[in-house]
Amino acid sequence: MDCIFCKIANGEIPTTKVYEDDSVIAFNDLSPQAPIHILIIPKEHIASAADVTADNSAVIAHIFEVAAKLGKDLGLENGYRIVNNCGEDGGQTVKHLHFHFMGGRQFGWPAG
Ligand code: AMP
Ligand code: ZN
Repeated sequence: MDCIFCKIANGEIPTTKVYEDDSVIAFNDLSPQAPIHILIIPKEHIASAADVTADNSAVIAHIFEVAAKLGKDLGLENGYRIVNNCGEDGGQTVKHLHFHFMGGRQFGWPAG
């Protein structure tokens, strides 16, 4: 399958890895929208949040554990933002489930 994040997960495409374990990898976004902009992805190919099922959802909880660890390790005690874009209307451009972990600035709501 021609999936750029699968290639990052299996090491075919190099990246600036910030965290890795058996089921998850986190790396810096190529086009950062904040001083800290990390993508956390399951190594397993799940196309989007719309493809989460009872069989594959455990990794989502694990991703949030990793996010909490990153927040602590990076000293973001004032907070951060975790974003998932799902599908066309959600603005998803890479069709492998990923969570944007962003910090180091104040974010607006609902955009920005
Ligand atoms: P989304 O629009 O939510 O699908 O986010 C996709 C993100 O992947 C964007 O923020 C891109 O900057 C980022 N991205 C695309 N290719 C790479 C890559 N090779 N390494 C790191 N980040 C990437
Ligand atoms: Zn993939």
